[in-house]
Amino acid sequence: MSAPKKGDLSSSEKELFEVITRGNVQEASRLLGCKDVRVNCLDEYGMTPLMHAAYKGKADMCKLLLQHGADVNCNEHEHGYTALMFAGLSGNTEIAWMMLDAGAETDVVNSVGRTAAQMAAFVGQHDCVTVINNFFSRARLDYYTKPQGLEKEPKLPPKLAGPLHKIIMSTNLNPVKMVLLVQENPLLAEVEALDKCRRVMELISEKCIKQQDMNEVLAMKMHYISCVLGKCASFLKDREDKLEGLIKSLLKGRDSDGFPVFQEKFIRECIRKFPYCDATLLQQLVRSIAPVEIGNDPTAMSVLTQAITGQVGFMDAEFCTTCGEKGAEKRCSICKMVIYCNPTCQKMHWFTHKKVCKKLQEQREKQEAESAKLRMKQSSESKAVTEATESMEQLSVETNSDVTSSNAAAETSDATSIPDAEN
Ligand SMILES: [Zn+2]
Ligand SMILES: [Zn+2]
Repeated sequence: MSAPKKGDLSSSEKELFEVITRGNVQEASRLLGCKDVRVNCLDEYGMTPLMHAAYKGKADMCKLLLQHGADVNCNEHEHGYTALMFAGLSGNTEIAWMMLDAGAETDVVNSVGRTAAQMAAFVGQHDCVTVINNFFSRARLDYYTKPQGLEKEPKLPPKLAGPLHKIIMSTNLNPVKMVLLVQENPLLAEVEALDKCRRVMELISEKCIKQQDMNEVLAMKMHYISCVLGKCASFLKDREDKLEGLIKSLLKGRDSDGFPVFQEKFIRECIRKFPYCDATLLQQLVRSIAPVEIGNDPTAMSVLTQAITGQVGFMDAEFCTTCGEKGAEKRCSICKMVIYCNPTCQKMHWFTHKKVCKKLQEQREKQEAESAKLRMKQSSESKAVTEATESMEQLSVETNSDVTSSNAAAETSDATSIPDAEN
């Protein structure tokens, strides 16, 4: 079949463009099965069906088109827009990720010299900018698994590319989580392997800074990963308790309030050691962190996470106290102040949490008692008002129902709590 020409469409292909606009995936699927429908056909502006689906923010449609072999890097659009640029303009992060995962090039520029990330930033789609800037394809890492120039052996042994890529793609930057990812892979959990990975991370970081379309976010992320891997290597070399010991050091809380001081200092040090002093991102991070006393908010982890992944509200209770994974819902049954993914994470944290658990429990009970007193006071005040006017009666009823619903919430959290792992 000859290469599609702009605007040269069969009637079924015309129908496909209409069906995409309407978002009818089933009908699109039927049409893509027709003989006279080419998945990479071009409308009069040089847009493919995939570009249309991406621009309109239709994720299911994009998935279907990619499954049918849509070319993610087709570049026939009259102004040089790619499917990734359209995804960025739509603001749909799922679609942006899908395009990247399908091999979309990030450094292609349109007719006015803008990349997809720059296009997305221009229209204020910052979540898409983050997705694009954080993406690092396996192919880019695999480059280091082949000997370059006069090298006799590659910088990165091919067997390490998989586990290292897994760490790179993680949006959870909690160092405990990273150490766990290293620990789960015997190939990686070894001094020589870690040193090789570290060097590759620093090389990529340098490339991100020096390339024409500078990517400070990715450069910082690679540098940070390199620091964590370096820490792993030094614990494997010098400490008897190896990576277990590193995890313990990262989790160990200070006596007064359980705040993990070593972890905070380690992350601050990683940021400070970023070798490209002129980077705007580095200056921003240092400005946000330097004035904060250790133990106060924001933590270095939350500042770094927000800068790299764009995740805000990092202090929300749904993040695991141990490993930082999102969606944790197992609460410590005694203090109810910390939350974990599962009993394993709770067990890992117990050695240090047990020192402050009781204290946290007392704090919480005191707070609850105070707020209950306040509520009583408010409701008795509102009762006095109610007696005065009839219309106010309803308000008092609402206040009462508020109290019942918060009791109900407390009961639910009891139900999901788990017994302590030890002692
Ligand atoms: Zn966890
Ligand atoms: Zn507790």
